[in-house]
Amino acid sequence: MKRIVIKVGSAVLTENNKIAKERMLNLVSLIASLRKSYEIILVTSGAVAAGYSALKLDKSKQISKKAIAAAGQPILMSSYKKKFDIYNIDTAQILLTEDDFDSRKRTKMFQDIINTHLDNNIVPIVNENDITATPEELFGDNDQLSAYVAHSTNAELLVILSDIDGYYDKNPTEYKDAKIFKTITKLPKNALIGEATPNNTFATGGIITKLKAADFLMQRGRKMLLCNGFDLDSAKSFLLKGEHTLGTLFMSE
Ligand code: ADP
Repeated sequence: MKRIVIKVGSAVLTENNKIAKERMLNLVSLIASLRKSYEIILVTSGAVAAGYSALKLDKSKQISKKAIAAAGQPILMSSYKKKFDIYNIDTAQILLTEDDFDSRKRTKMFQDIINTHLDNNIVPIVNENDITATPEELFGDNDQLSAYVAHSTNAELLVILSDIDGYYDKNPTEYKDAKIFKTITKLPKNALIGEATPNNTFATGGIITKLKAADFLMQRGRKMLLCNGFDLDSAKSFLLKGEHTLGTLFMSE
């Protein structure tokens, strides 16, 4: 069976500083329908938003993102569990940092765990473990983490669900005349240079980290689809019907 990684970002999973539960349910329902054709690994953000909305915080005081994420991660997982339970699908939590990809021994450890989950029809849900890690050990965004996960678990495709339809020649939230790329076989020069441009309070990535993820995978003969996570139609047609409607497909020639 084909193996894919689906990454959902904060822009899709959160709304008004809270977990967007309906969108989460739509995603879970998509995963449930994809399971007949694919082994699926989910990489998800949302721990900070989940913590932020659930904790009784004095909003006038500064509190670290790590502290909020530590409280939010179990809340995020419990939100997922409730939705996967509807489809009678078991889930597992995998927390990783950049260090886990540094040595073969450590990489093999989580590869084995993920393989065991998939063999037993469990959906592994991956997030960055930013609680104990130092900044040097962190990817800082789940775009690159999901690319590393896709490569090290031998997934043929990474699907990144974001708040845009794909990759444009310029930022579509700023320029109305921005044109979407349908397929990218080679990244435009200088595409990987620039500031991260996240479009949401909890987002850490922006387009640059998505392009870095695409570049990493294309160099290793793997593919990435960047598509809309609010409206899952383009992801559905691509994955279930093999029809590329909207969304940018990154693949080397
Ligand atoms: P997520 O939380 O899904 O990772 P981000 O906010 O980090 O989302 O990244 C997506 C945002 O990147 C878009 O909403 C858009 O504003 C911005 N962006 C900047 N340049 C581009 C571009 N050339 N094509 C598409 N999106 C872009």
